[in-house]
Amino acid sequence: MRNIITVITDMIFTRRCPGCGEPVDIFADSDICPSCLPGFRDISDKMFYVSDIRCLKAVYSFSGPARHGLHRFKFRGDGSAGIFFADRIAEMIRNEKYFDKNCVLVPIPGNIEKTDREYVQAVFLAKRRARKLHIGYVGDAMRKKKSVISQTKCRTLLARRENIANAFILNKRSASKLCGKKVIIIDDISTTGSTISSAARTLKKANPAEIYAACAARTPTHKDIGKKYIVRCPDNMKTLLVVAKGNSDS
Ligand SMILES: [Zn+2]
Repeated sequence: MRNIITVITDMIFTRRCPGCGEPVDIFADSDICPSCLPGFRDISDKMFYVSDIRCLKAVYSFSGPARHGLHRFKFRGDGSAGIFFADRIAEMIRNEKYFDKNCVLVPIPGNIEKTDREYVQAVFLAKRRARKLHIGYVGDAMRKKKSVISQTKCRTLLARRENIANAFILNKRSASKLCGKKVIIIDDISTTGSTISSAARTLKKANPAEIYAACAARTPTHKDIGKKYIVRCPDNMKTLLVVAKGNSDS
């Protein structure tokens, strides 16, 4: 049963489903409406290998209502959807074996302009998560070079990789806050993981102890579907085989 303060808050600020954005019954246990609930595919039990970091984890598959909700958050500024995804990532990170007070969250930076949507989203998500988890947050550890265009404008996988390789510059003043820390890179959506790898290569110059990544959703590439991946397990370095499931609509 939901607590009374949450119910009263929802009565004042209409409680909305993070998938479709429609109002949700204030007494319902789930934040997600009954029609969207089956479409949220939780993949937080899977680890994905991305070069230059220990592992990437995502809460949802970037499909169905999770995809619609993230688009509303990203492109239409739906704050309640943003809060939902930020809180889910905080829960995921809290349950990780590597998680402790030595962790620091670092958002993927956007382009130089402060109004850059992607920048605003990543910062919002990372800040809220850091507050929830009572750990450090370094928002200006790196910046994106001006020449880098949005990844969504790149048509091919190769173009995405080339666009984002060496895309970030380390902010030396803030970098000292990362020395010896477990850095968790925060992004909203990960597609190929090349943005996270590029950011990790930049952050390594700050000598962190380890680098991880967490995002709200991950788009499986065609290579993922039905294939087995060798993934390093961060706590004991054991190798695991993870089968990534197919994604019908992305
Ligand atoms: Zn819904």
